[in-house]
Amino acid sequence: MNVLVVGANGQVARQTIAELAKRGQQPIAMIRDEQQADALLALGAARTVVADLEQDITHAFNNVDAVIFAAGSGGKTGGDKTILVDLWGAMKSIDAATKQGVKRFVMLSSMGTVDPDKSERIRHYLVAKKLADDYLKQSSLNYTIVRPGSLTNDEAIGKIKLEEEIQVRDNTITRADVAHVLAEVVGRENTFHKTFEILNGPTPIDEALNQL
Ligand code: NAP
Repeated sequence: MNVLVVGANGQVARQTIAELAKRGQQPIAMIRDEQQADALLALGAARTVVADLEQDITHAFNNVDAVIFAAGSGGKTGGDKTILVDLWGAMKSIDAATKQGVKRFVMLSSMGTVDPDKSERIRHYLVAKKLADDYLKQSSLNYTIVRPGSLTNDEAIGKIKLEEEIQVRDNTITRADVAHVLAEVVGRENTFHKTFEILNGPTPIDEALNQL
């Protein structure tokens, strides 16, 4: 499957490219700087495409079977970029996928998106992510929305807690395990039209996904 990874140079996305390649998928790395290409090809990307979510992105969705949206404006930019990248960039990606006949869309979202009002600090970000998720749910795409807790750079644990809404706060998951989940769900029909939160926990990832 040709899987377009949006935000491919990101910390989760780079590991997702490697996980996809391990599974025999054809990851296509969408980057906004040509100089990032060689490193992504070395990680296992089948090809790269240059596109910026703040510009026209339609060309990146040609010859694509599935999309993993793993881009984000990050905590160091202002609220304007949250709107332009995390919200509008995600909505543009959903529209581009629909327009180009892509059927499958996996969204890297965030825990806390169910009720942004519970968070003072990143409420505007969670609102943006919630609106993008809602837009995806209303589309005709076979979506899966993956909502991890706080991301860490620790080594993969391989085990998670997965629920529609997890009733703990301030908990974490490694980026490596999130990448594993994203690469795994993209080809799994039992995850179509599902939205769930993940943290590191007691259940092997494949087993947790089988239970969906
Ligand atoms: P990251 O390393 O900051 O990666 C984000 C990627 O988005 C970067 O590669 C960046 O490209 C790309 N990007 C930014 N603006 C773009 C644009 N206009 N067009 C195209 N690409 C653009 O983030 P991460 O650590 O992998 O996390 C991925 C996402 O997980 C976050 O964005 C967030 O939504 C979600 N999340 C994060 C946490 C957390 O604890 N941090 C928790 C839950 C969910 P460049 O490399 O070119 O800058």
